[in-house]
Amino acid sequence: MAENKVCFSPACLSSGMRNDRDSQPAFHVGGIRFSQMGGSQCSFPPCEPDRVLVRVQKLTPEKADQLIWVRARIHTSRAKGKQCFLVLRQQQFNVQALVAVGERASKQMVKFAANINKESIVDVEAMVRRVEQKIESCSQQDVELHIERIFVISQAEPRLPLQLEDCVRPEGEGDEDGRATVNQDTRLDNRVIDLRTTTSHAIFRLQSGVCQLFRDTLTNKGFVEIQTPKIISAASEGGANVFTVSYFKTSAYLAQSPQLYKQMCICADFDKVFCVGPVFRAEDSNTHRHLTEFVGLDIELAFNYHYHEVIESITDTMVQIFKGLRDKFQTEIQTVGKQYSSEPFKFLEPTLRLEYTEGVAMLREAGVDMGDEEDLSTPNEKLLGRLVKEKYDTDFYVLDKYPLAVRPFYTMPDPNDKKYSNSYDMFMRGEEILSGAQRIHDAQLLTERAIHHNIDLEKIKSYIDSFRYGAPPHGGGGIGLERVCMLYLGLHNVRQVSMFPRDPKRLTP
Ligand code: ATP
Repeated sequence: MAENKVCFSPACLSSGMRNDRDSQPAFHVGGIRFSQMGGSQCSFPPCEPDRVLVRVQKLTPEKADQLIWVRARIHTSRAKGKQCFLVLRQQQFNVQALVAVGERASKQMVKFAANINKESIVDVEAMVRRVEQKIESCSQQDVELHIERIFVISQAEPRLPLQLEDCVRPEGEGDEDGRATVNQDTRLDNRVIDLRTTTSHAIFRLQSGVCQLFRDTLTNKGFVEIQTPKIISAASEGGANVFTVSYFKTSAYLAQSPQLYKQMCICADFDKVFCVGPVFRAEDSNTHRHLTEFVGLDIELAFNYHYHEVIESITDTMVQIFKGLRDKFQTEIQTVGKQYSSEPFKFLEPTLRLEYTEGVAMLREAGVDMGDEEDLSTPNEKLLGRLVKEKYDTDFYVLDKYPLAVRPFYTMPDPNDKKYSNSYDMFMRGEEILSGAQRIHDAQLLTERAIHHNIDLEKIKSYIDSFRYGAPPHGGGGIGLERVCMLYLGLHNVRQVSMFPRDPKRLTP
């Protein structure tokens, strides 16, 4: 019963109250002694634990010769004679620890420590000692812990489905010297363990950074974050790649993008909107860059004079993200780079903008045979990325004025040449990360284009009606979060940057 009453409230821990250990009533949970206090400010049952847990990251020489408590996982364990060496890990930080038979530890304690399964969570009370030689294999290189007490807080099963050290081995290294590497399916089947690695932690902290920078940049530019429905009555992009779900006595679809709704917000005078949310695609595409559910970073804004205002706003947002990552996430970038090496990501200011016809001309010059109105295939997209890098030394650029025929029905045709459109894609390391356009804001033209694309007008009636009562010229784009992270870090598979990826063959974990 005592478990339910444990108070971990910071208010309680930081109250600075000291209790008389012997006179106060106490209870124990997982080896921690809690003293019950009277008159605490805390709304939980008042109590004070007998230890303050220090973060592994904070174990520096300043803490030398102090007796401290640490809660961490047993990363590795190696018994040798009368001592046992442990590496204790907490997220991406780890520290060497030692239990040795002596005044402070018995033979039984060394044996007990040596028998704790890897990945178990322990509390240790230990003396912090400065070391003469740096411990290169640990993040805390200047100190080690001399353990005096050890409690198992949560025991891991003895057999792990995969070893963390195999999961972080640099690409290619394992195969050469015969050491194990872990294939992607095994990693994803046991994702929680795979996610514990320093590489995974770095990837997902960086991903969180991309979302944060996206939100901060757009909020500073006066955008409003909106939420759009994910269960919808009509496929937003038309076409077949939509999941149907049963919806009471009828059926509905999972949104392929927030497209129609973010535009409807523009019709409702929100002027500049963005959203971050799941996007569903029922495409049987088993490639390195397609998921059936991904996170869309979407932008839509009204413009005053020219749709290039929209391109500028989006490219500036991307540049702010790249700068933020470069300046605030170097540790993460380098951690990932140790396992998956890649060239640092390069970008220009202002962002390079090429027209589709220029891109086609560069490809033709490189020997590609393609028509004016043909869409870019994935290999051609990558080739063009390499040609652009060689010529302009950038990993990020915009291709503007796509052929109208290869774009969705709501795309604004180019007023000067109806074969083309006011639409654009953006690329990182030669792969598409964004599709966008000026949208048609005239109900009549929108209706004509929808008919041209064989879209059932009845199903998008409320969308088209939104434009009947006046709508400002506007445009925007949709970005795939996982693609941005994958390509920024120079990784080769979008599943590495999706915590629990969904693809045509994977629905679990
Ligand atoms: P692709 O040609 O690569 O299949 P798309 O043209 O279907 O992409 P859009 O529908 O324009 O892409 O979506 C906008 C952005 O969303 C893309 O540029 C990409 O970053 C991301 N995206 C699209 N489809 C997927 C997917 N299946 N998995 C992950 N991200 C995706």
